[in-house]
Amino acid sequence: MIIDIHTHLGRVTREDIPVTAEELIENMDKWEIEKAVVLPLDATPEGSTFWFTTEQVLEVYRRYPDRIIPFCKLDPRQIDNSMKTDFSWILQEYKDKGCRGVGEITANLYIDDPMGMNLFAQCGEANMPVLFHLVDRIGAQYGLVDNIYLPRLERILRELPETTFIGHAMSFWAEISTDVTEETRGGYPKGLIKSPGRLQELLRKYDNLYGDLSAGSGFNAITRDPEYGYKFLEEFQDKLLFGTDFCHHNQEVPIVDYTKSVLNDGKISRTTYEKITHINAEKLLKMK
Ligand SMILES: [Zn+2]
Repeated sequence: MIIDIHTHLGRVTREDIPVTAEELIENMDKWEIEKAVVLPLDATPEGSTFWFTTEQVLEVYRRYPDRIIPFCKLDPRQIDNSMKTDFSWILQEYKDKGCRGVGEITANLYIDDPMGMNLFAQCGEANMPVLFHLVDRIGAQYGLVDNIYLPRLERILRELPETTFIGHAMSFWAEISTDVTEETRGGYPKGLIKSPGRLQELLRKYDNLYGDLSAGSGFNAITRDPEYGYKFLEEFQDKLLFGTDFCHHNQEVPIVDYTKSVLNDGKISRTTYEKITHINAEKLLKMK
């Protein structure tokens, strides 16, 4: 049983052939993924050309209720462009329709922007985890922003203990090593991890932080130093979630083979494998 915490449908770029629900399900069958979270891509114009809305995700969920786990997408600025916007009613509406989380949040705002904190606090009250894309600067294509060493992320983890956050993308995963720099934190830094970074510190310190292993960023973080990667998966077995970020027609997702081979080669325990591939997600998304 595998749950994928991060997929998308539709068309992302000009060149893309849209990913249909059927293609996703076909790939899930091939990759032995039983259920996949589908994250809408809408409500935030930065970096997006074509939208796949929460309502479209819910339509797909109604067609494949046993395979799809819908999330809803909200932007901290939508509805009122205010730090006091009431999101509770729309969170409840989406929850009633089956949504189990919010994201992915791609607004190019500081992660502790008052409008964001207002939305995230209400996600916590609604008991819906928040999946966010983290980048290194305002003016990046899309994604919430933090400074090097993640002081703003720490602030929201501390000030919003009722909200669960699922971290994703380059500037989240680059912090796996203390040698992260302003130059490398927006990308996919390579090399051995000689000393664990702020990411591990925050994962240890805050119960409300999880890591989404999907995409080049998550995969790079756990494979740049293979031996350290196995240790990391073991140590944070309760805080990590398997994911692909499948979003393009015919996309390769190396994490599928990686996950199976680290189990089969005895690099990680069966317990760790089960937690990362589905038990943590089931708990977080309240599926059991
Ligand atoms: Zn994504």
